Amino acid sequence: MGSILQAAHHTVFIALGSNLGNRLENLQSARTRLSEQVRIIKDSQTYETPPWGIHDQPAFLNQVLQGSTTLSPLKLLDFLKQVEKEMGREKSIRFGPRLIDLDILLYDVRQINTPRLTIPHKRMCERAFVLVPLAEIAYNLSIPGTERTVEEHLRLLDSSGIIQFDAL
Ligand code: ADP
Ligand code: MG
Repeated sequence: MGSILQAAHHTVFIALGSNLGNRLENLQSARTRLSEQVRIIKDSQTYETPPWGIHDQPAFLNQVLQGSTTLSPLKLLDFLKQVEKEMGREKSIRFGPRLIDLDILLYDVRQINTPRLTIPHKRMCERAFVLVPLAEIAYNLSIPGTERTVEEHLRLLDSSGIIQFDAL
């Protein structure tokens, strides 16, 4: 007989970014660590993105994962921050260079607005480097709180600078 105490599984989309050191290895290491708590269902290609915000820094590699987790939104945030810390990310300037940045884009269809956590991620719909990899794995998904799908949001942006990163 099945237990009624099984934890619910939640669908999450997580954005990975790196622009320091061996960027591909950083993404790989983050995926391995993430998989302790998040079963990875889909992963996008890796894209290279010119630096944004502060321009005088190396280009970013960006990727988006679809996962399944039993963690609550805040526990997931704690876990991502823990992984960033273990991977040696130091507190640095906002939008500045980093070994690894892990952001929660979406958590089921939830909308969350607390000082520590905003879901959907506050700036995701303005960022082609998030929407291009997200559209690759979930173009038809509606963004909660907006009337549009990922693809519809993406069409409103200039994504010409986002190029598929060829590892070879
Ligand atoms: P960035 O905005 O460049 O990703 P950080 O990674 O340093 O900056 O994150 C700053 C803070 O943003 C985190 O400490 C976290 O509390 C907060 N935050 C709010 N919403 C989210 C989210 N959806 N995913 C990740 N962090 C979030
Ligand atoms: Mg972040």
